[in-house]
Order: sequence, then C-alpha cells, then structure tokens
Amino acid sequence: NKSVKSDIQIAQESKLKHIKEVAESIGLTEDDIEYYGKYKAKITYEKIHSLKENRDGRLILVTSINPTAAGEGKSTVTVGLGDAMHQLGKKVVIALREPSLGPTMGMKGGATGGGYAQVLPMEDINLHFTGDLHAITAANNALAALMDNHIHQGNQLQIDQRRIVWKRALDINDRALRQIVIGLGGPSQGVPREDGFDITVASEIMAVLCLSTSLEDLKKRLAKMVVGYNTSKQPVTVGDLGVEGALSLLLKDALKPNLVQTIEHTPALVHGGPFANIAHGCNSIMATKSALKLADYVVTEAGFGADLGAEKFLNIKARAANIKPDAVVVVATIRALKMHGGMLKSDLQHENVLALEKGLENLQKHIETIYNFGLPVVVAINRFITDTDAEINTLTNWCTEQKVPVALTEVWEKGGKGGLQLAELVIEQIESNKQTFEYLYDLNLPIEEKIKKIVQKVYGGSDVEFSTKAMKQLKEFQEFGWGQLPVCMAKTQYSLSDEPTKLGRPKNFTIHVRELVPKLGAGFIVALTGDVMTMPGLPKKPVAYQMNIDEKGRAIGLF
Ligand code: ADP
Repeated sequence: NKSVKSDIQIAQESKLKHIKEVAESIGLTEDDIEYYGKYKAKITYEKIHSLKENRDGRLILVTSINPTAAGEGKSTVTVGLGDAMHQLGKKVVIALREPSLGPTMGMKGGATGGGYAQVLPMEDINLHFTGDLHAITAANNALAALMDNHIHQGNQLQIDQRRIVWKRALDINDRALRQIVIGLGGPSQGVPREDGFDITVASEIMAVLCLSTSLEDLKKRLAKMVVGYNTSKQPVTVGDLGVEGALSLLLKDALKPNLVQTIEHTPALVHGGPFANIAHGCNSIMATKSALKLADYVVTEAGFGADLGAEKFLNIKARAANIKPDAVVVVATIRALKMHGGMLKSDLQHENVLALEKGLENLQKHIETIYNFGLPVVVAINRFITDTDAEINTLTNWCTEQKVPVALTEVWEKGGKGGLQLAELVIEQIESNKQTFEYLYDLNLPIEEKIKKIVQKVYGGSDVEFSTKAMKQLKEFQEFGWGQLPVCMAKTQYSLSDEPTKLGRPKNFTIHVRELVPKLGAGFIVALTGDVMTMPGLPKKPVAYQMNIDEKGRAIGLF
C-alpha cells in the first residue's frame, strides 16, 4: 500500500533529473546557474539581472486555516498544485521557503511537502541545503562579535550595553540560550552584559535577505539595522559600526535563489525561510520575482494561517516587491477543522460532522480576510485517507453555499494528478477576477492604528492592549521617524487570538502587545504579542530521536 510510505521513502525512491535539465525547461542555460552537486543549483546575479525586462507571470499564494497539531499540508498542496499545472502543460515555477533545522529536529519534521508532492532532494533541503541559513547565522553572529569588540575596544559609539537589541542566533531550538550573560571572566574577556539567542529564521538578517531586491539593496538594508542605543538613547546602526560590507560579503551566495525539482520534475525555487509567527513568513523576493520572470504561473506559500503569513505577504512583502497575488488558495483539512470544532487530536480518526460544522467558522474567517484584500479565493481540501464521504460533502456543500470555489485535493496520495481540479479552478478564478487588490492599511497611519487594523480586520478581535514598555516605545519610535513602517506581528499560529488554546473563531478578544522591536533593515516594526518566543524549545520527544543515517549514507527518519 503506497499510502503508508513515509515522505523520505517516497523521496528516496524518486528518480531525479540532473538539475541542468530542470534549468533548461525554464530557459536557463549552464551559464545561468551555479551547481551545488547534481540536483541543486543557484541562479547567477547576471541572469537575474537580465530577466528584468521579461513580463511577469501570474502569482498564486497558498495559505491556510489556523494550523493545529493535526497538520494542514500547505507545502504539500503548494507543490502538488505546481505539479498539476505542470501536467496541464503550463510553464510553472514553485517558490517555497527553505526549512530551518530547528523544527526539522524538533516537532515538525521536514518542510518540503509530503507524500507524492515533494521537492527533492528532501534530505538535503531539510538539512544544510546550499548553506544559506548557515551564512545568515554567521553574518548575524559576526555582527554581534563586531559590536561587542567595538564596546571592548573603547566604545567610541558609546553603545549602552543595557540597551542592545541585536541578539546572537542559532538554527537549532535551544531554550537554554534565550537569556544569557556574556563577557564574564575579567577585563580581557570583553564587557559583561545580558544577551540572548534567537533562532536564525527570526534574525533580522533572514528578513533582510528575503526582502532585498538586489545585492545593493541588501547592503543598504543591512546598514540600516539597529543594533542598540547609545548613552544618549539614540539608535546605533550597522552603518554606524561600518560593517555592512563584511556582512554583505558573507551573504554573497546566500542571496542567490536555489533551484531544485519536485518528484514530477517541476522546477522549484526554494529560498529564504523566516517563520510566520515570529518573523514575516515568506520566501525571498529574489526568488519570487525571478520565478515570475521565468514562468507563466508561480505558486508560492506563506507560513501558517492567513492571519500570519498571508497577512504579512500582502502588507509587507507585496509592498517591498511591488507584486500582488492573482489568486489565493486557502488549504483546509477536515481533521484540523474538527479540532477547531472542539475535537481532541486523539479522536480525529472518527467521523464527526457536527464538530466539522462548528470548526468551519475558522475557515470562514480566513476566507473573509482574503476577500477583504480584494483577492479571489479557492479552498483546497487537502484530503486525508481518514476523511469520510459525509465529512467531505459537508465541507464541499458549505463552500458551495458560501459561493467559494472549492476543490478536493489529493496531491499527497497522487501527486499532480490529484490537484488537476484545483489547478483548473485557480486558473479560472484568475481569468475571471474583477476585484482590485488593496493593502489593509496605509503606511501613514500611526503604528498603533496599523496594529489595531490587523487585529480587527484579520484576527477578528476587538482591541489591542499595549504594555507600559510598548507604550513608551510607540512614542520613541514615532520620534525616531519610524512611524511609517509596516508592522510585523509576532503571534501564536494556533489561534486567531494571542492565546494558543482559543481555537475556532474567538470573538471579543484583546491582543496584548508586550514589546516592539525595530527592524529597520527589514523595514518593519515587530510587535511581540502574548507569550510568543523568538527562540523555540524542543518538545518532549524531538524528531531527532528518529533521525539516523545508514551505511550507504542514506538519511533515515526525516518526514
Ligand atoms: P504545512 O506546510 O502546512 O506545515 P506540510 O505540507 O509540510 O504542512 O505537511 C506536514 C506533514 O503532513 C507532512 O509530513 C506531510 O507528509 C503530511 N501530510 C500533508 N498532507 C497530507 C495528507 N493529505 N495525508 C497524509 N499526510 C499528509
């Protein structure tokens, strides 16, 4: 029975094409790419530059309902939809984020899709890939070391070591590093101060890499990053330290998009990987824009539910890149909807139409959100083998009543063939769309008003409460002239509210903003809500315990 094979088994049984052939299928010659082995390549800056005059293809954004512990399969549907379009004879490129090691070894397993809808080689992509995340980690920590050295060597910039906002980074979930003290041991060991680690995907450098439109733009953005404040409480930047050149050099290859293929040899650019709960959650602009120039259709994904990744795609990335999606796919699973309707994860294999009907309110909110942006929606039901006919009919009929196009999607089981209906519906929606895309907020609104709009329009909450610290920051940020930046909300992915246990569609709730963090290089202000952490911890039974390698060098236990 093929449906019980693990993702890694399916991946390892697939026959890959040499990446040169995949590149050729979208008009890239050997001169346009740099090989990282037989199955991975980066696109050169020269080629990216020369694509500028090409016409843009159509952009399809894949998002989902609020994820639950049951898993939604957004990457799986993104890959499967790309494969389905490929089967329909369309020129298509998939644009995905690259996975972080933290969750790969922790809770989630891989992030390369699943079943027969995967990007390959999955073990490489999920582990070190082409080294982009390592380069970002190195650049992040080089900056920290250069700053601490500056302080140690006389601190000409008068950086106040109690007001440093730049943290160190590591691409591993390590809760013990959240708050640390460095520089202990006497005068020759540096200046003692409190510090901490973020996971690499939450580093501002990851966001900068993803939002940069060129090497030059990367350098400018890096220079603007705020590392802390001086003794007169004025911001100190990377430009003040004078190290943006060194950091850009460390990132010279990381900024180039990575080309790989799906099981069905559809080209995929897998590049940049911020989380959507603690960062902006979208793959790189370099990759998305290159894909748009190379293909007629681009399928991309933004992390977690439409309240996080999609909201940030539409308000942050779309503005920075000057692009907009032509259609949005909202992935829903019967299992997750039943959990939103009150069922326990352990009971999900049992049919429960009532719980499903109750849970639909979560899907409804996300559909409303996307319509609020003036974009067409297609619901993709990511079918699990445990879903019953009664449940699938309930969900399909509900969508039909709401006049939302819906497609049963079986790409996990069947690859692109299982997504043909979805692909056709999406193309139909794109062709017939008469709405106009609009950002949710104007950049000129004060920061607190932008946050309020997101809370009310996207989360469906009633109000925002700012901590005393956040109130003070609102005032300071306005004075520093940062008031016109968009906001990147850091919020739990599990709920529309800032409490992970409030599933479904909570109402009349308040979002609590405890702190704001300026990310001027990325070009946004992060608002930390609830208890969300920028360095995750490992769960009781990390996936790492299943991971292994056999004597032939094959990876085991990634899923
Ligand atoms: P997301 O992008 O929403 O986090 P993924 O696409 O990464 O989700 O899928 C998470 C896990 O769920 C993967 O291991 C994948 O194989 C599995 N999965 C996805 N869709 C299905 C499905 N229809 N049936 C069974 N397993 C699935």
